[in-house]
Amino acid sequence: SSSLIPRRSSAAASQRDQNAERVKVVVRVRPPKTNEAGGAVRVGPDHRGIVLARENSNIPSSAFEFDKVLTETASQADVYHAAVQPIVEDVLNGYNGTIMAYGQTGAGKTYTLSSRDPDAIGMMPRAAAAIFSAIEHDQGHSYTVMMSYIQLYMELLQDLIKPQNSDLQIRENENGVYVAGVSEHEVSSMDDCLNFLHVGDRNRAVAFTALNAQSSRSHGIVMLTIIKRPSSTPKHRAVGQKVKIGKLFMVDLAGSERLKKSRSTGVRANEAVSINLSLTTLGMCINARADPSATHVPFRDSKLTRLLQESLGGNAKTSLVIAVANAVQHSEETLQSLQFGSRAMRVQTQAVVNECLDFKVMNAELMAGLDEGEDRSQQ
Ligand code: ADP
Ligand code: MG
Repeated sequence: SSSLIPRRSSAAASQRDQNAERVKVVVRVRPPKTNEAGGAVRVGPDHRGIVLARENSNIPSSAFEFDKVLTETASQADVYHAAVQPIVEDVLNGYNGTIMAYGQTGAGKTYTLSSRDPDAIGMMPRAAAAIFSAIEHDQGHSYTVMMSYIQLYMELLQDLIKPQNSDLQIRENENGVYVAGVSEHEVSSMDDCLNFLHVGDRNRAVAFTALNAQSSRSHGIVMLTIIKRPSSTPKHRAVGQKVKIGKLFMVDLAGSERLKKSRSTGVRANEAVSINLSLTTLGMCINARADPSATHVPFRDSKLTRLLQESLGGNAKTSLVIAVANAVQHSEETLQSLQFGSRAMRVQTQAVVNECLDFKVMNAELMAGLDEGEDRSQQ
């Protein structure tokens, strides 16, 4: 009967189908430390294949293929070009974008995303630099960029720039999922972003020292919102002019290692459950999204997956960076991380440009209409 015609036959859904694309998965191998034995992984000559060597084990070696595998000699610029640059370009055009770093503690997630070493700056400051450079060179538009920085720890969302906001709620409206009441800060340079990152990291350290806990157990999330308007003078603006709103999420996930039983007592046991809840639910959502026959994706089962719902199958372009250590003693965790990335290779998203009526312009037009004769070009 006609009631069974799938909703995807609508124009909007077919536009979404055209925009369907996979989550991009890039593996980054970090060099072994002086106390670690290297040679744990072999990267193929095409930089897409990676083999986890198991010479001293009765478990057979495991081979995987990704969009890109970056060896331990890869630079931050290489990671940027593989995983971030295309997404930043899309976010400047009104798409949602997500960069997520997954891997065990010590594998290089934070180094990759937010290193401020001037010789090896991370993806977040690089993305900011690229955004402000593009803005500077675009005479045809005016932009507003807002930054927020939050963390998710034991299912509590805390504003890291205004840490007194320690239990933020996730809400949803017709434009998607958002964090209600999070502080948003206007930024106009990479240095502005680095300053807020620094403030947030300091607040994060203070919070974890007070709890006597490890910040590697929390998820850190930087959000940049880019509002783009045509920069015509007001008299050329038509009422009903549209703005584009692009949102970039950069997510430093909690360490993916399984917690040792010996440490899982008292508060830590509680912590283990909560951390497992968000990361386990993330894994379950990726499994469900990767399986065409799955009918239910448990996005609502954790705050992380509610927040990342769009990034994992909705309106977003997503890159996942799997950080692994080229160290034999970490092979079990590396295997788990590569398996996670491998499943994420099958997840599709459908990004569409976010456009809405520019209420700021409409208000300006209304005010101007009430106050004729004013020199509106001065606005
Ligand atoms: P994670 O955030 O995954 O716990 P970190 O990013 O803190 O791990 O990295 C752990 C350590 O390894 C840090 O001292 C970092 O500087 C170093 N490191 C990580 N990745 C690399 C890399 N690609 N090259 C050099 N050093 C790295
Ligand atoms: Mg870290």
